[in-house]
Amino acid sequence: MGSNRIVLMSNREPYVHERSKRGIKCRVPAGGLVAALDPVMRMTGGTWIAWGSGSADMETSGPEGRIQVPVEDPRYTLRRIWLTTKEVADYYYGFSNRVIWPVCHMFQENALFEKEYWETYKKVNAKFAAAAVEELEHDGRLWIQDIHYCLVPRLVREERPEVSIALFWHVPFPAVETFACIPWRKELIMGLLGCDLIGFHSSAYVNNFLSTVKRELPEAVVTSSAVELNGRVTRAKSFPLGIDYEAYSSRGRDERLRKRAARMRKRMDIPHVIFAVDRLDYTKGILNRFLAFERFLESNPKFVGKVSFIQVASPTREVISEYREMKRQVEETVGRVNGRFQQPNWTPIIYMNRFVPQEELMAYYIMADVAMITPVIDGMNLVAKEYITLNDQGVLILSEFAGASEEMNAALIVNPYDVEMSARAILKALTMTTEERERNVHALRKVVKEHDLYWWLDTFLSEWGIELSSRDWNKGPPSGPSCPLPQRALVGPPPS
Ligand code: UDP
Repeated sequence: MGSNRIVLMSNREPYVHERSKRGIKCRVPAGGLVAALDPVMRMTGGTWIAWGSGSADMETSGPEGRIQVPVEDPRYTLRRIWLTTKEVADYYYGFSNRVIWPVCHMFQENALFEKEYWETYKKVNAKFAAAAVEELEHDGRLWIQDIHYCLVPRLVREERPEVSIALFWHVPFPAVETFACIPWRKELIMGLLGCDLIGFHSSAYVNNFLSTVKRELPEAVVTSSAVELNGRVTRAKSFPLGIDYEAYSSRGRDERLRKRAARMRKRMDIPHVIFAVDRLDYTKGILNRFLAFERFLESNPKFVGKVSFIQVASPTREVISEYREMKRQVEETVGRVNGRFQQPNWTPIIYMNRFVPQEELMAYYIMADVAMITPVIDGMNLVAKEYITLNDQGVLILSEFAGASEEMNAALIVNPYDVEMSARAILKALTMTTEERERNVHALRKVVKEHDLYWWLDTFLSEWGIELSSRDWNKGPPSGPSCPLPQRALVGPPPS
């Protein structure tokens, strides 16, 4: 593959070895992105560097954490990086999830700017960078995923000036003043500018990133799509992430799944169902959504007893106090709203605090008349795309602050902070004609289909100078995996 050989870097690994009572098992972690990147790596035959998180990872790896994967038919190298419990606590739960995550989602009041987090983040980034330098051939390429390795591009660049480096930023990039809250903002920006290409979900995030560079580095030459600093150019571009439309769409036509959805709906015995699924994260707007539903019931008494709101709130990052506090508030609100409106055979909000597997989730998508996906801020939001792909007459109420709204403007777009507006959108959604619903689904499906996961991969790689058609690999992957691979895109991320 010559210069197409990729060294990929992500926090999660594509194959995890776990010890269980019945011996060592190899698990493919749930996660659409991991599942999509595995065939890329199998095709290009490079190295995937990730945190070795499994309980049996060490004993199944060779010296320096290397293992050939898939185990039964090796196609590429997985290089596992060993981290101590404290390193994981401080760099991942600390710096990534309590500094970069809240600030990039404009929740800087939830951030904790601990020096120790920063020191560990630097240390872990140096560890990953050293591994990348070892794995990179002279004409190799390094593709970094997400917010966990901002410092790696520069560190690698210093050692290997000729290597091509790209990074995809999976969360929003905030306004200049917001990013400026981070005490180590300049180091982070300098780190990122070691890249040749940085991808974001939307053009708004590209602009925010470029404005931040302008502010932090007045000596840099910043255009609308690139930065030049000391003779080196970093391009920034928007590549909205999509779902595997074909895989979802064909599952949606599955007779057994449709029957399951019909049975679930029949059991509920209610004229209208609204559905939402999110990780229980403060960015997802769950509380505002319940307040809007409460306001809707208040102002439309004829719907009392006629509509239930099913909310799946999957557990996430519970070691962090803001998440536990958020859970408390959400559950208190569910109790209050239900207590206020409940009838003996009707529950207004059906709340599930668990991870729901994809098959079950898809049945909910099919049976729900409306999906209310209203994060107060979200990099993209794939749930909105999944729902529209599976439900032929579904109405999508979508937050204007989800990255997905940039393309999905045929949805009922709301400001999630505006309780009145969201309540009115619920009424509109429940009273739309079949033609209106179908027209909207048609328009929305067009963009979801056009900009699917493989479009994202191909566009990103092509912009980076790699011409490969990932859509074809998915139809016939190079070989069968040793760990039973779930069907691509029919998996969701673990409750991280
Ligand atoms: N998901 C799931 N079960 C759950 C919750 C979420 O399978 O209980 C999946 C969902 O189908 C989607 C992904 O997790 O594919 C969530 O992606 P999204 O971009 O909407 O949000 P994120 O969690 O990445 O912030």
